[in-house]
Amino acid sequence: MRENYTLARLYLDHDLAEDAVIALSKEQAHYLGNVLRLSSGDALRVFNSKDGEWRALVADINRKAARIEITEQLRAPKPCPDIWLCFAPVRKHRNAFILEKATELGVGTLQPLITARTQFPKIRLDKMQAQIIEASEQTERLDLPMLCETRDLSKMLDNWPEGRALIFADEAGDAEPAMNVLQNLSGPAALLIGPEGGFTAEEREILRAKSFVTAVTLGPRILRADTAALSMLTLWQACSGDWK
Ligand code: SAM
Repeated sequence: MRENYTLARLYLDHDLAEDAVIALSKEQAHYLGNVLRLSSGDALRVFNSKDGEWRALVADINRKAARIEITEQLRAPKPCPDIWLCFAPVRKHRNAFILEKATELGVGTLQPLITARTQFPKIRLDKMQAQIIEASEQTERLDLPMLCETRDLSKMLDNWPEGRALIFADEAGDAEPAMNVLQNLSGPAALLIGPEGGFTAEEREILRAKSFVTAVTLGPRILRADTAALSMLTLWQACSGDWK
């Protein structure tokens, strides 16, 4: 039914099945009641990675609680492509931008990294998760990107998974154009973006010595980390993702 796609969407980490009645959290009840102004009998959509997207009706709602009744499945589960973004967290609003745009661009896994010049190592994963959920609801995804615990760059490299290419955006140049590399990938990949202060010469040397790493350039200008993250993901999607 066409009008389903105008209905509000809520990510629900709960088994979604026909006739199930689900009690929402206080925050979700507040969002439905006070933000979306839904009342009993109104319809909405709920989704998660396991069950896909379902139509639901508000069974009852007040300022602090709400229950919904699941009616019918609208879309089967469908994960976004398998692409990782490994990034050094940057200042708050730019970090929120990276999370929102990476989610819209279909990133599969987000790996926050501590590098020598990371200025904002203490990030709130719970806040980042809330930003990811909100972006997933808006962008009509049927899953959430996986948000990993923050890791140290060298530890991540020492435990790098077999068979996955790491495409390293190297602002120092002297690298292959990103497009050439991203359109010739033959398997799973991860994209690596540095912090505001960039990578140190030592990090660059360690990265370039790894067999699974390919350094790429995003052109002659220095992009901000959020611009670079967005650009790499856009190129990857266009070359190897689900935009075809
Ligand atoms: N030191 C510079 C600075 O402070 O602006 C460079 C850091 S840049 C803002 C952050 C990250 O974006 C870099 O570490 C790199 O991963 C990526 N980046 C920016 N411009 C790039 C380019 N022209 N080619 C490849 N990667 C780039």
